[in-house]
Amino acid sequence: MSCKGHHPERMCVVCRERFPKEELTRFVPPEETNEPDFRPVPDPAMTRPGRGYYVCDQARCRERFPKMIAGLMKKRAR
Ligand SMILES: [Zn+2]
Repeated sequence: MSCKGHHPERMCVVCRERFPKEELTRFVPPEETNEPDFRPVPDPAMTRPGRGYYVCDQARCRERFPKMIAGLMKKRAR
């Protein structure tokens, strides 16, 4: 049934569905981040180090992502 063997998948942090990696946009924290409300930067080449956040192509996910990330970072900060 599953032919996903060779396809790296990532989960969209907003809708939590899984997509082939190339259909997602990766965001990473900016280089220096001590700020509680930092802005994630897109990483189209997917080469930046560190924890990445993947967001799918759906408009609602793109829209919600900035708010979402703020919540994620708050949780992570403790
Ligand atoms: Zn999504």
